[in-house]
Amino acid sequence: SCGICVEKCPFDAIEIINLPQELNDEPIHRYGENAFSLYGLPAPGEGRVTGILGPNGIGKTTAVHILADELTPNLGAYNDESSWDAVLDEYRGTALQDYLEALIDGDVSVARKPQYVDQIPGQFDGTTRQLLERTDERGELDALIERVGIGPVVDQDIDTLSGGELQRVALVAALARDAEFYFLDEITPYLDIGQRMTAARIIQELAEEGDRSMLVVEHDLAILDLLADALHVAYGEPGAFGVITDPKSTKNGINEYLKGYLDNENMRIRQEAIEFEQHAPRNVTRGDVAIEYPALEKSYGDGEFSLAVESGTIRESEVLGVVGPNGIGKSTFAKMLAGRLEPDAGTVDAQLDIAYKPQYIDIDQPMRVDAFLSSITDEFGSSYWNTEIAQPLQLDAVMEQNLDDLSGGERQRVAIAACLSKDADLYLLDEPSAHLDVEQRVLATSAIRRYAENHDATAMVIDHDIYMIDLLSDRLLVFDGEPAVHGTASQPQGMRDGMNEFLENLDVTFRRDERTGRPRINKPGSNLDREQKQAGEYYYAP
Ligand code: ADP
Ligand code: ADP
Repeated sequence: SCGICVEKCPFDAIEIINLPQELNDEPIHRYGENAFSLYGLPAPGEGRVTGILGPNGIGKTTAVHILADELTPNLGAYNDESSWDAVLDEYRGTALQDYLEALIDGDVSVARKPQYVDQIPGQFDGTTRQLLERTDERGELDALIERVGIGPVVDQDIDTLSGGELQRVALVAALARDAEFYFLDEITPYLDIGQRMTAARIIQELAEEGDRSMLVVEHDLAILDLLADALHVAYGEPGAFGVITDPKSTKNGINEYLKGYLDNENMRIRQEAIEFEQHAPRNVTRGDVAIEYPALEKSYGDGEFSLAVESGTIRESEVLGVVGPNGIGKSTFAKMLAGRLEPDAGTVDAQLDIAYKPQYIDIDQPMRVDAFLSSITDEFGSSYWNTEIAQPLQLDAVMEQNLDDLSGGERQRVAIAACLSKDADLYLLDEPSAHLDVEQRVLATSAIRRYAENHDATAMVIDHDIYMIDLLSDRLLVFDGEPAVHGTASQPQGMRDGMNEFLENLDVTFRRDERTGRPRINKPGSNLDREQKQAGEYYYAP
């Protein structure tokens, strides 16, 4: 027993302080004896976007199976016949009553976007258009294709698409359907900030104008904040039990989640708060110059895409955040630094050892995680390696699994560990946030920072989660231009200047939440938005 719950604690090693009252009651569903139990359900609302914020493995998909009438909840009595009437009795007078009544009447139709879009090519053979045409139930398909910008790839075979393209195809496939209830399991992986905001806008419009119920699971807090009208926090012990809270305002839900303490429930869900630094942005350059590169140029084919990078230096022990839209040349620059691609103009010091974690992780092999990682480093299993890498990346639970059985978030953590375990001068991580939940993002961030510091190494991290970039970076390298046509990169610069340059390109300003210091996107055209643009302060308070 964890010593926290005095009586009737059915689980071991629960991290939650004050065991939730709900655990004394029956769950909404229990899969079997000692199997996962779900407490509470999210309440989708017509004309609204309802968010769920919580870790993976906490019962979100289970909840959706219930709300989609694919699983009749057993109220904990897993040996007995389940009945919807008993469930309705339980939820009478709550926000869910209307929804459950409609569901029992057979009036609810569901459209869904799956979490792992990388699996789509394995499930569908044919072109993008062939896949999407089967979903065109509202006559909005062409408009959606246009808005998310996948027009150029509609006639390509699905298995030739990049992750960012697949993500948008999957989103369009769900939103083109004519349903009462849409469930979108993570919309941001592989999308840049502009694409994330477009996706958010389309989802909101479908809710508002189409009077539909949207339920969205999302770990990018800036986007969740922008998108959701209300928020359920999900907490518990992944794999053992999950509790879904009553709806909160989006702002309170995110703040309480970051604080690790749920106010209404009077519940601590994490020992430590996640904090955003309120002081001026970091602008110290740590260490000696590690890498000096000249101005570089590269173009592909007959100049269909061209990239021009200003010369720059990267320092030891620093984390350089890399931002810019998809298709602007970030990976091309990384490959030139890594000596994998010859620049058309400029030469890169080829002595540099680079460890690279690509955006799309390809480590599917019938090999155990521990065997894979110990083949990379002799330090595997040392107390040093355990403290610096295995613990912060929560690898213990997956060590004995095979690489090809891992979930997206698990695979991401193993790939980050593999990258950091190499002996290198530069650690280059492309979108480490993809598929990680909020806590895992924070832990991965500090693992990367600590590692660079302790090894006099340099980390370059390409990511589109602005919270993660803010928590992670000492300086910023900003890419701009016209995606797929031409890109430019200016010199690495301090966080304030870098964020200003980057966000001015995007025409987005952020304010700081007064209670937690977390960055929030300003409403376009609001007073703050206009004032900050005029002052040229897009991100940090002047
Ligand atoms: P999430 O969507 O939050 O990642 P899920 O609802 O998929 O979580 O799963 C929550 C837990 O329930 C997991 O531990 C999963 O293994 C377990 N689970 C899911 N489906 C079943 C099932 N049919 N039988 C037993 N356990 C299940
Ligand atoms: P980012 O990393 O910013 O998303 P990339 O460097 O991957 O951008 O790509 C920039 C542009 O160059 C894209 O339009 C991409 O399609 C194109 N491109 C990348 N690699 C090649 C290649 N080997 N041949 C032709 N075009 C390429």
